[in-house]
Amino acid sequence: MSDNGTAYDVAKVRADFPLIENLAKGAKPLVYLDSAASTQKPRIVVEALSDFYLKDYANIHRGVHFLSQKATDAYEKARETARRFVNAREAAECIFVRNATEGVNLVASSYAKSRLKPGANIVLTTMEHHANIVPWQMALEGTGAELRVVPIDSRGVLDVEAFGKLVDENTVIAAFSYVSNVLGTVNPVKKLTAIAHDKGAKVLVDAAQAAPHRKIDVADIGCDFLVLSGHKIYGPTGIGLLYAKREILEKMPPYQGGGDMILTVSFEKTTYKGIPDRFEAGTPHIAGAVGMAAAMDYMERIGLANIEAHEAALLSRCREKLAPIPGLKEIGTAPGKAAVFSFTLEGVHPHDIGTFLDADNIAIRAGHHCAEPLMKFLKIPGTARASFGMYNTAEEVDKLATALEKIVKFFA
Ligand code: PLP
Repeated sequence: MSDNGTAYDVAKVRADFPLIENLAKGAKPLVYLDSAASTQKPRIVVEALSDFYLKDYANIHRGVHFLSQKATDAYEKARETARRFVNAREAAECIFVRNATEGVNLVASSYAKSRLKPGANIVLTTMEHHANIVPWQMALEGTGAELRVVPIDSRGVLDVEAFGKLVDENTVIAAFSYVSNVLGTVNPVKKLTAIAHDKGAKVLVDAAQAAPHRKIDVADIGCDFLVLSGHKIYGPTGIGLLYAKREILEKMPPYQGGGDMILTVSFEKTTYKGIPDRFEAGTPHIAGAVGMAAAMDYMERIGLANIEAHEAALLSRCREKLAPIPGLKEIGTAPGKAAVFSFTLEGVHPHDIGTFLDADNIAIRAGHHCAEPLMKFLKIPGTARASFGMYNTAEEVDKLATALEKIVKFFA
């Protein structure tokens, strides 16, 4: 049994993460509560990377030799794993990118830019990460099209009615986060997608903060595009996924040009490969794709529903333990929120909270969390944020509470 009363064995999970295990052993064990920034890596992911480099590595697609074919097989097998992980219809709808950020940039540049004319618009929400704001602003520049922003309430709940009014027949794309990296709000992505589709708009779901915590099902959501990052789902950095529907991808021009995405090249005319190759110019992060697939396999083995339940228990303990702390205010109280706990402490700057906690070997994040428009809406410079992963324990939550009580006393 785990420490939160479910069948989930957190001690066993922790044993899979060498860094967590090793840093928890010292006189001052590390409490890692920064998984929303990036997760730690299980041994199996690191081994998948090293095994690939030590046993199977070569460049892919272009080689006729045995090793190149073996590496190509591993890369394409990783694509099939990604397909399964997000429940896409076919592997060709899964494009390997560097991260969620690159996925948004690809769609903004290749899909949206040419459709943005005076009178057209793009719809975002107040709670977006800069990765789901700036690429759209860059695409909008000089087009005469408009950016519309859906409001949220003081709890961090999206105004779905306003969404339905802001999205209209001139909306090129509505792009919104599945889970907010600051508030933990879980948006009703299926409902939002249906509303946008009713108006003829396309939908991009930013699943960077959802994929670590819950099952992603693009077939169920019905979205046109979805992005996620490998490093936030216990996989390597430098690799992510863009899911897009085949019929849309087939009509999109390439994002970048170069090797491996062409059929023929001449100085007069170049022709491109089909999907997904057309969107993966140059040598990709082959080992990264293999490592991300290992992480996806691992998460599925632990069980997405188990991870979600474990983290929900940690979040409710966190709320219970931190609520009585004088001056502490939870930022983001949407019902059913994910395991991201942002807060402020009266009279203490978020950076000071982070520094004091660090002195107690507790790693959290402090600042605007790449969500400056949201901070402006909340009228705060930033928050302190504890975020949970599958390896965190109730005891670690208690340590956070004790350390925060100390900080409050220090500043009193
Ligand atoms: N979207 C959200 C909600 C995020 O929290 C982040 C990163 O924190 C991103 C997008 C961008 O992820 P990456 O930096 O891996 O591209």
